[in-house]
Formats: sequence, C-alpha cells, structure tokens
Amino acid sequence: MTRETRSGGPTATHCPYCSLQCGMVLTPGRGGRTLTVAAREDHPVSEGGLCRKGWTAAGLHGHRERLTTPLVRDRATGDLRAVDWDEALDLVAERLRAVQAAHGPDGVAVFGGGGLTNEKAYQLGKLARVALGTSQVDYNGRWCMSSAASASNRAFGIDRGLPFPLADVEHADVVVLVGSNLVETMPPAARHLDRCRANGGTVVVIDPRRTATAERADVHLQPVPGTDLPLALGVLHAVDAAGGVDAAYVAERTVGWEDSRASASAWWPERVERVSGVPADEVRALASLLAGAGSAVVLTARGAEQHAQGTATVLAWIDVALALGLPGRPHSGYGCLTGQGNGQGGREHGQKADQLPGYRMIDDPAARDHVAAVWGVDAASLPGPGRSAYELLDALGTPGGPRAMLVHGSNIVVSAPNAAHVTDRLAALDLLVVCDLVMSETAALADVVLPVTQWSEESGTTTNLEGRVLLRQRAVAPPAGVRSDLEVMAGLAERLGAPGTWSTDPAEVFDELGRASAGGRADYAGISHARIAESDGGVFWPCPDADHPGTPRLFADAFAHPDGRARFVAVDHLGPAEPVDEAFPVHLTTGRVLAQYQSGAQTRRVRELPDTGPYVEMHPMLADRIGAYDGEPVVVTTRRGELKAPARLTTAIRPDTVFVPFHWVGANRLTSDALDPASRMPAFKVCAAAVRA
Ligand code: SF4
Repeated sequence: MTRETRSGGPTATHCPYCSLQCGMVLTPGRGGRTLTVAAREDHPVSEGGLCRKGWTAAGLHGHRERLTTPLVRDRATGDLRAVDWDEALDLVAERLRAVQAAHGPDGVAVFGGGGLTNEKAYQLGKLARVALGTSQVDYNGRWCMSSAASASNRAFGIDRGLPFPLADVEHADVVVLVGSNLVETMPPAARHLDRCRANGGTVVVIDPRRTATAERADVHLQPVPGTDLPLALGVLHAVDAAGGVDAAYVAERTVGWEDSRASASAWWPERVERVSGVPADEVRALASLLAGAGSAVVLTARGAEQHAQGTATVLAWIDVALALGLPGRPHSGYGCLTGQGNGQGGREHGQKADQLPGYRMIDDPAARDHVAAVWGVDAASLPGPGRSAYELLDALGTPGGPRAMLVHGSNIVVSAPNAAHVTDRLAALDLLVVCDLVMSETAALADVVLPVTQWSEESGTTTNLEGRVLLRQRAVAPPAGVRSDLEVMAGLAERLGAPGTWSTDPAEVFDELGRASAGGRADYAGISHARIAESDGGVFWPCPDADHPGTPRLFADAFAHPDGRARFVAVDHLGPAEPVDEAFPVHLTTGRVLAQYQSGAQTRRVRELPDTGPYVEMHPMLADRIGAYDGEPVVVTTRRGELKAPARLTTAIRPDTVFVPFHWVGANRLTSDALDPASRMPAFKVCAAAVRA
C-alpha cells in the first residue's frame, strides 16, 4: 500500500508522534472497539519500520482515561464538573470577551503545539489574529528546533529542516550528527546511517553521552554540554589550516567567508580542547575527514540547538558546511533533524508569534496584505508580533500580561523550562482553557477542559522533517462527546463574532492554507489532500501550483536570499548562560528515551510502554564521589528547584555531567529559562547542578 489511500477497512495513515512520520495502516475491529497498527511496508519514509511508540500508538484508543465531555471548574468547590459543549463554549467566549474588555485584545493568549496538524496550526494562528485580535500567540515548537530555524533563515534565506530527503545520507562519504540520538528518538531512520556505513561511509556522532547512536557510529566525540559551538569553530579552523576550504564554491555561492574565517582563527584545536574537552587530535581528525570527503552531511538536533547560544551553534556548523562547499551538492549539505510530529509544518503557518502562513513575517506589509485578503479582513486589523513562548508564559497574570489563555496540543506544566515558575504563572490566570485527549498535568489546572479528537479520529496533514507534506487519514469515529480542535475553533470564532469562514473540514482548511501560503517561502498552493492521497509518499514544499512536482531538494542552483548566495555568519563562543561553580559543580543535560514521547501525556498512558519515571544518569566516578549507588535515590538541585530520583550508573556519560529524561514532571523544574537572543529558545540542554546521595 504505497499510496496515501484507504483500502476498504484498513486506513493508510502516519504515526502520531515524531517528525519521521512513519507510514502505518490502522484497522478497526470488533465494531470499532479495537484498533490494530501495521507498518506500511513500502512507504518511502519508513519502509515498513516503526518504533515501539508507533507499534503501540493505538494504546489510547478506548482508553479509560480518555476525556469525553467538556469540564468546567466550579468556582465554589474548585472541582471540575461535566457540562455540554454549548455551555462550555458559551462560557469560554463570554469570559474571553470579559478579559479583553478589561485588559485589551492582548489580555488573551493562545498557545499551540508542534504536534498539531498543519490545518490546526493554521487555524489557531487565524483564531488568534482574526477572532481574538491578539498578538499573544506562540507554541511549544519554539522549544524544539527554533534555533536551527533562525540559523537556516539567516544562512540560506529559508528554513526547511532537511533540504533533501533523509535517504540521501546513505550515499554520503561522511555523516556528522551533532547532538542527535537518532537510534533512540527515531529508530527506523537509523537504517540510513547503517546503509551509509555499508556503502563505505563514516558516521561521526558528537554527544556528551555515548548514546545508542554513538555506539553505532565510527567516531564519537564527547564534548562538555554546551560546547558544540567552539568545537565547530575548531573544526572550521582546522579545515582552513589544512587547505580544505572549497574556494571556488565559497567565491561563487556565498558571502561573508572572511569574517567567519577570522572568527574561527581564534579557535585553534588546543584551545577548543581546553573548553570542550575534545582532544585537539580528534578535532583535527574530524576536519581532515570532512576535507577529504567527496560528499558529506552535517546534521544538528536538540543537543546542539537547545542552548542560549543555539542559533550561533547551528550557524557555526553551517559555516563548516559552507566552507566545505556542501549545501546544494549531491548527497551533501546541512540539515536539522526536527523533533515533533509536525515540528516543520507547525512553524510555517502562523501559530508562531512573528509569523503568518507560508512562513511570511507578520511585520512585512506585503505579507499582511496577502494573508488579510485570504482571511477577508483589513490588513490594519491584524496585530503585530507578540511574545515568544517562554516570554509569553512568564508574563501570564502579570501587569500588562495576558489574563486568559487557550492551549491546544501542549502539556506546558511538564515541557516548559523552569516549570515550577511557569506553573505558578498558569495559576495566576483568570481563565485557562485546555484542549486535550486526556487529563494532562496542564489540563488538570484548567478552568475549562475541552475533549478533542486524537490522530486516528481525524484527518489532516503534517510536514515531516524532510519538508514532505503527508496526509493522516481518519480511521475510526471519535468517542461520543469528543470534537476536533477545528470544531472548537469554529465554535469559538462564531461566538466571538469573527469575520470570515471557519470550516471544520480539514481538506477545506488545507485549501485555504494553500491560498494563504501562496507566494510565501513555504508555498503549499499546489498541494491538496487529494493530491497527497494519490502521491507516492507525499509532496515536498515549495509546491506553488498543481502542475509543480514539488521540491525534494533545495539549493542545487541558488539559495533563497535575493542574490541567490548563502551567508556565512561569523559567531563566537560566549560560554554557557549558567556556568558550573562551587555550589553547582556538574552539568545537567536532558533528553528523550526510546519508549516515551515529549511530555509523555500520551505515551505514559500506553500500557505496553515502560513508564520508568525520571532517573539520574551519572558516571560511577561521580557516584563514588557523592556516595551514590545504582538504583538508589539521589537529589539533583539547580537554582530553580530539585528532583529526587534513582541514580543510574553508566560509563557512557562524562563524569562531570548528569542526564535526566524530560518525559515526567521534574526534569524541567531544574532547567534554565535563559533564552537564545535570536530564536528565543530556552537553554534546556545545559545548566549548572549539584547532586547528592
Ligand atoms: Fe516512526 Fe517516530 Fe512514530 Fe517511532 S515515533 S514510529 S520513529 S514516527
């Protein structure tokens, strides 16, 4: 079943979780009470592969914790009570109007998610700008790959996570993964690395932990967390010193090389060794490997990006790729491995504080005119840019900050940095409305909880990490009492007297999204649900019209800047936002585990997936120093909070670093809210901590 079509009872669709968007077939049984998952054998993305999260994705079908009726908090008792949909939506609309009457349009905030389909992300941005007139809209994708996005926009003039199909890496001579644990986060994608090695290629992993991905690589560099930037500068320095710069490419296809060269000249490998802990010989060896390769791919992920210097770190690795002449060449280039299921599409169509659909900027007058015409409103009525995700949450309930918030597709209490503080801000709101499938930690705090459909019960598109637009198709009817997010938004828009049309049909909303994106950087105008359904594995954007074949590979002839050239951007290493010191002497880093996904609101409820709770991974030398034992509790403390969890001893981590998975309440009570100045990405991946037995 290669096409995105239904075949009788079974429905061809995609996994609800990560950005690989593996193809799967859902088959309802026993009158719709059961739902069986099968892999789509010849889907080009996953080739019959699924990880254990995908295989068990139907675990929430018919789950006893599924929400099936709207709930409203009783002001007298403080308890949530069941109400019907009209009462819930009437109440939400009335209270939103009251907040805006007292505090202005920006008194209401909207918070979305990188797991929402393109249709929902688009409609959420429109709801904020047209129905509510608020600038206060952002989403949790800001915490995912926004540093890579801002770096790609600066360097290439466009941000598409991978500007080539992932399978291209199989034919590269060298693949460098910076801060990616692909083998555990998206296991079916690891076959591309294995095939690269089988073809004679070399896989290099840069990670403070010897992860499962590092175990499968040829070379593992193990820097101190937060030092991928000086490491990149050292590699660039060594490439230049060895005469490895592709001078013809640099002259013909780029601008800015001399500034980046000057910046890298200050980072000779021995200096890099002192800062990053990576031996100078290993820095030189990587530079020599890259300079001698006929083709090479550099890929970054959250380990490199979730820092207060995240954008600069990605820019430094892009500078390495440009100096080697990689972007736009066959089986070569730079790419970002996006995390969330629709992390790519979710950042293109308007739920981000500074953007309108099609990756247009909200402060661009021409962009405002175009989108306002599609929405049937006056461009002057659209608000300007709002606060980024963390800044928005930090402002909740403060003087001049939002007093009410709608949340779709995000479990902020678990996933926000400095989470205890964010939870306090949520509690300060006059009104918190959460749409979710289950009573997540954030929904449990809400004044109104609205039960919405999950992936198998609705249709919609996602854009995977390759920029491939895919169609998820409805396989089963939702439980009685459950509505789609599009229905919730239409119901609110109607009650708020919003102008324009508010379809609840995902195919119609997608067509409108296509018109709104037309002519933008992420142009979907030539894509439709029907076209994806007839395709062999989706359609790559940009795709400006129905006759256009889509664009699997970017940059072969030109970059997206007006002069067609890529930009070197000179950066320097400023050090971590929160250096270790006597009181907090170890580095804390966080990440994912194979069996859980993001905040765990879904996967922690799937019976077949192990729910271990948080743990603290540490080196035996560190454990010895503090008197900790494997499996026994330790306490991790940062300037923001503390977490008690069992120790897991492993030599796979640096002795100066501890790792805590972030799928449970706790890890993000420790993490730092220092923000990258360009992307506003929080420094999730490193802060200073103390550990005691
Ligand atoms: Fe594939 Fe990711 Fe789903 Fe696993 S979680 S099955 S890798 S899409």
